[in-house]
Amino acid sequence: MEQVSADNFLIKAIDIHQLCEVIHSIMERYNVYLGVNVVVVVINCLDEQCTTVIDNIKHEMRRFYHSIIDNDTLIQIEKFYNMRLFGGIFLPKIKTYESLLPAAHHVPVKEDDKLMILNLSHIGYNGNTEEFGSFVRYGHDSSTPACGAIKSCYDQIVKGMKMPSDFDLRALSRYIKKTINIHNIKQKPLGHDLLEVTINSYRDQIPWIKQQLIKLAKTDEIDIIYIGGIEIDINKESDKDTHDKIVLMDKFIIQQNGDATDIS
Ligand SMILES: [Zn+2]
Repeated sequence: MEQVSADNFLIKAIDIHQLCEVIHSIMERYNVYLGVNVVVVVINCLDEQCTTVIDNIKHEMRRFYHSIIDNDTLIQIEKFYNMRLFGGIFLPKIKTYESLLPAAHHVPVKEDDKLMILNLSHIGYNGNTEEFGSFVRYGHDSSTPACGAIKSCYDQIVKGMKMPSDFDLRALSRYIKKTINIHNIKQKPLGHDLLEVTINSYRDQIPWIKQQLIKLAKTDEIDIIYIGGIEIDINKESDKDTHDKIVLMDKFIIQQNGDATDIS
């Protein structure tokens, strides 16, 4: 896929409708049938906004299953395995393929079974101020941080404060510190520094996650499809507002023999 930088980040964004078209076309191409031969794993942040986006994705996916009328089938189709990680980051050397084994084991039909991973980090964007790192949530008068976890870790590092005491947050904080150093990220206005941190934090986990998925594909003899990127949380005017955007950054398939191929 084309490289995504802070400069062209918003230009690359697609809406949930378009994302679902991408997911659906990949599913058709690789014979993936929701509720049949696949378990979908969603790796995203603990933020309630990320839950809302996944709910909207599920809802949007229903249009590909218009013949379905009964609730039981719908429940089956929308049974996603959730992995909530601060920032939606599968931290190198902290998270391993073993945490995905339960999902891989629970594909209903074992013939031609697949694991589909949707991995989204996230960042807020306030269109009124053109600032990254926060947005106005529904029912709020002012903007609040997103991703709160990444932003709080980043702010603490910039201010030279001590690491968070929570084990998972501390691990994220260490990782972000490394990301800042490797990419020489400097403070910038309008949250562009946080955007650089988010893009690079997402991107730097890819070689690790790919390596772990290769292990999982071989161990469990399962094909794995990975779709990943960054969700942009947009100001909410109402609780029905679904204008959040996604910047897709990676799509690849790993076959049971461990061969990884980018999906064009
Ligand atoms: Zn978050």
